[in-house]
Amino acid sequence: MKIDKDSVVSFRYRLRDAAGHDLGSSDAGDPVTYLHGHGSLIPGLEAGLRGRAAGERATVTVPPDQGYGPRHDAPLQRIPIKRLLGHGKRPQPGQVVAVQAADGTRQVTVVKVGKFNVDVDTNHPLAGRVLEFDVEVIEVRAATPEELAHGHAHGPGGHHH
Ligand code: ZN
Repeated sequence: MKIDKDSVVSFRYRLRDAAGHDLGSSDAGDPVTYLHGHGSLIPGLEAGLRGRAAGERATVTVPPDQGYGPRHDAPLQRIPIKRLLGHGKRPQPGQVVAVQAADGTRQVTVVKVGKFNVDVDTNHPLAGRVLEFDVEVIEVRAATPEELAHGHAHGPGGHHH
């Protein structure tokens, strides 16, 4: 079965930028599982996976406009350290941290650390970068009616209710 709209896909990936710097990967034992064609992944990665079958490996190159968008020269935002999520100790400049925003959780990059506040760059850490995904497709199956109704994949690597 080839990946197409409404396929449920499990895959592993390793991500690097155009210069070859490692930017992370899926956990070794746990593939990512998603419902294809519902905007679960960045557009360039979904397009690169379409038509592939279980067992296939590929390198998918994603330009910023198909990834996390261009970098904006947004003014830095000053936020209280206590609004950082899951911080155990003092944040460091350059660190990527999660903050609670009106529309959910956002990842921001710490630029400057004060006593009670941090100045953060609100660009997504991967904005403006060409991304190269080495992907390995593990499983492709048809979505269940429930998954289609919810708009996401269920089970290991997907959503749990
Ligand atoms: Zn669901």
